Amino acid sequence: MNTNAAGIKINVSGIVQGVGFRPFVYATATRLHLTGSVWNTSKGVEIEIFGNLHDLDQFLIDLKEKHPVLARIDQIESSAIPFQILTDFSIKSSQAEEGQFLPVSPDMSICPDCLKELFDPKNRRYRYPFINCTNCGPRFSIIKNIPYDRPLTTMADFKLCPACQAEYDNPLDRRFHAQPVACAECGPRLQFINQGQIIGKYEGALTTARKFIEDGKIVAIKGLGGYHLACNASNEEAVQSLRSRKKRSDRPFALMSYNLETIKKFCHITDEEAAILQSPQHPIALLTKREDCSLPEALAPNQNHLGFMIPYTPLHYLLLELDEGFPEVLVMTSGNMSDEPIAYEDEDARVRMAEIADGFLVHNRPIQMRVDDSVVRVVEQQPYFLRRSRGYAPDPIILNDEIPQMLACGAELKNTFCLSRSHYAFLSHHIGDLENYETLSSFENGILHFQNLFRIKPLKIVVDLHPEYLSTKYAVDRACKEQLPLLQVQHHHAHLAACLADNHWVSGQDVIGLIFDGTGYGTDGKIWGGEVLVGEYSSVKRRFHLAETMLPGGDSAIRNPSKIALSNLYSADLPWTEDLPPVQALSEQELAILKTQLENRLNCPITTSMGRLFDAVASLVGIRQIATYEGQAAIELENVCDPQEENAYKFTLNTDNIETAEVFDHILLNLRMGISKSTISARFHNGLANLCLDICKTIQKESGLQTVALSGGVWQNITLLTKTTTLLRNQGFSVLQHHQVPANDGGIALGQLMVAAAAKESN
Ligand code: ZN
Ligand code: ZN
Ligand code: FE
Repeated sequence: MNTNAAGIKINVSGIVQGVGFRPFVYATATRLHLTGSVWNTSKGVEIEIFGNLHDLDQFLIDLKEKHPVLARIDQIESSAIPFQILTDFSIKSSQAEEGQFLPVSPDMSICPDCLKELFDPKNRRYRYPFINCTNCGPRFSIIKNIPYDRPLTTMADFKLCPACQAEYDNPLDRRFHAQPVACAECGPRLQFINQGQIIGKYEGALTTARKFIEDGKIVAIKGLGGYHLACNASNEEAVQSLRSRKKRSDRPFALMSYNLETIKKFCHITDEEAAILQSPQHPIALLTKREDCSLPEALAPNQNHLGFMIPYTPLHYLLLELDEGFPEVLVMTSGNMSDEPIAYEDEDARVRMAEIADGFLVHNRPIQMRVDDSVVRVVEQQPYFLRRSRGYAPDPIILNDEIPQMLACGAELKNTFCLSRSHYAFLSHHIGDLENYETLSSFENGILHFQNLFRIKPLKIVVDLHPEYLSTKYAVDRACKEQLPLLQVQHHHAHLAACLADNHWVSGQDVIGLIFDGTGYGTDGKIWGGEVLVGEYSSVKRRFHLAETMLPGGDSAIRNPSKIALSNLYSADLPWTEDLPPVQALSEQELAILKTQLENRLNCPITTSMGRLFDAVASLVGIRQIATYEGQAAIELENVCDPQEENAYKFTLNTDNIETAEVFDHILLNLRMGISKSTISARFHNGLANLCLDICKTIQKESGLQTVALSGGVWQNITLLTKTTTLLRNQGFSVLQHHQVPANDGGIALGQLMVAAAAKESN
């Protein structure tokens, strides 16, 4: 026997189940002539391994560096155990422990190996639309419960054929224990349904769907996490009719093309964007439109970006297969009526999209949890999330410290919720705008599903301060029923805490928070949104805020940038002259009513919202008077911004507020001089960036702070984000931007959780 002989016991935690981890361990150990065994536990994977020291060291290195693509190792613990003489290395059966949990892998796009097989005529899964392996395919969207085993997924009813079973049982096969494994013999199948009749099956279903799309029709397609509505993106008529049937007036549609080469005909793609588009998550990336882009404007009115993705399931690849005459770009928008959650259950989809879709391309693999497509932009070579969902959820955000089990219910728009356990924050997939019954029940079911999946029993419930949010009502109700403590966290404090957690900021150190947002309920009951906070997780001080203005008509003003513009002029004592676009946009009667409303402060809540300031400027320069979705005016104002312009409007910093009157005065002056929208927009953006620097310098003088966190929906404005970050960094400030969660309300729940965790510590 070798004197170097030793044994180690290794515990691995993270995403290590259902991703080919045990076969990888098996293959690595065998290659290094090591003996022992590996098995799944409720906490992760355990390994007992024996051999000579040199090989054991190599094994530990390979474990960290060569693990399967979908695995994510959070922790490796190893300890020496007595050497045992064994003949081989083996995979043992799972050992479950009550109450333990594991992160669950998100759904992943088809891997290169499966893609090759999909188009290989000699492969037995040639053109099989549900091909997958341990490195790819559905996960989160099909899991009903843990442990992640086939009987607890929506694949339970598909009995494996002998060929699939052999692959599933063979530790050296790349489909060993791939739970959704299937083939045309034993797995899910396609159908095409038109007016309640099946008019195509299998390959025929696919051909019919392609024919429908070629003919300018709208097809509902059952995908990974829900239904899409698809049509030929180059066919203006089809695009318009999809808009009107879906009752979606201006919001951009997501697009899908077979590959990057095709997308390059319409958009510019940087290397980083290419990498993200092709990453295992395959999100939608917002790409800059080419000047000669031939796609209809109706796909994304007044936008200089288009949201593109490449196929992420085998079905998408077959559907979009390149062929002369078949459209190169498809609209792939979520299968729903505007404002409702995406459809994922077959019956419900059939009913809800009956008036929208001309046909349905469906399959019989049930979807357990709906998951929308994720949307990112690329900022500083990294993904910058606008929506974090498919491919990313339910991956937890890793926290610096362990925190108690809690539930954070998020905000109202772009809702996500978040549950904590140990040092994990499980931020949910995108739920949507909590404004109707369907979305609310999807929120409630989602919470229960997460609690069950990660075995979490919240000890505290956290929610926004807004009394009218449906999430607040749910939280209050549940806290009361279950007799749990409830904590309400101010919206912008939560934004700040989300940005800090996103950057692994250590508690106990204050930062400057530039929280620029649309709407959030303030501690004084006013509508906040242009907030400069100083503090951290446990508490914040409101150091500056945007000057207060009136929001005529309350929330409804969000749809009427012209009224916001005129309200700002009223506050600044500037006359409503007839040459101004917002004045022209309203009738004499509307103007009179508005004036009375403002003079008497009738239904005019007070706001300090930065989002509304963008609306006002967009209206004044004539860009948008009526908005059909949140943030539309601001996005369009950013889109016209002249990158060459260097002048800036000057915001005045008072003792505790930011004066805007002078800026409006200056904009009117510029308008009357005939200065272009692009220049005015740039001067406004530059002015805000300068303002941020002024603010930070002032606070730095007061308290020596030099770290700045940028959060809130306004920071989806990449022009402002880039200008501000550059300016601050050049002056020695360190800037925290979002990387893992959105700057918008999709990140709020994480912040709420962190504030609650910090509050508990100080008790
Ligand atoms: Zn695969
Ligand atoms: Zn099979
Ligand atoms: Fe917000």
